[in-house]
Amino acid sequence: MKSVSDKDLRIGVFVCECGTNIAASVDCDEATEFSKKLPGVVFAVKNKYTCSEPGQQEIKKAIVEHKLNKVVIASCTPRMHEPTFRQCVSEAGLNPYLMEMANIREHCSWVHVTDKKKATDKAKDIIKAAVARTRNLEPQTELEVPVTQSALVIGGGVAGMQAALDLADAGYPVHLVEKSPTLGGKMAQLDKVYPSMD
Ligand code: SF4
Repeated sequence: MKSVSDKDLRIGVFVCECGTNIAASVDCDEATEFSKKLPGVVFAVKNKYTCSEPGQQEIKKAIVEHKLNKVVIASCTPRMHEPTFRQCVSEAGLNPYLMEMANIREHCSWVHVTDKKKATDKAKDIIKAAVARTRNLEPQTELEVPVTQSALVIGGGVAGMQAALDLADAGYPVHLVEKSPTLGGKMAQLDKVYPSMD
């Protein structure tokens, strides 16, 4: 069962211009207006730099003022700022996993610099997909669990043996499992290999 039913959804969308990084190829005003009409969206705004301190303050303020229960940040790759925005929404009282990113920079503005209309249409599709994913997000709890510091490698072919050797060189106990009676896999069936012909 969903933690927030569709009728109770209050999604906020924050569209980042990234200076001209996004704004030069994507019409961010149009993308923001489009976002406002998506199902479940109750608030959408454009920011100059969403990851900046003022940008993050705007997100926190909107979460409180508009009672947002899900958030979409349309900006850059999650590799860059996902932890920033998870922390940001969590400081406003929202579970950090109720935030979804829409990558309209690396996946859109940077690769479609010559056609603003098509780039804007693609950005709108990316945001629409992110909003759709957001509808199904559930709050998550982070756990710390003890990890056994050893490795199991399944398959004693060349790749498996090399992986086992590398792991052992890194200081981990390794268990290598092979279903046949001998190691070597396909490699053991060859009498020479290219290019050394050994
Ligand atoms: S959130 Fe990403 S896209 Fe927006 S200003 Fe920061 S780096 Fe640029």
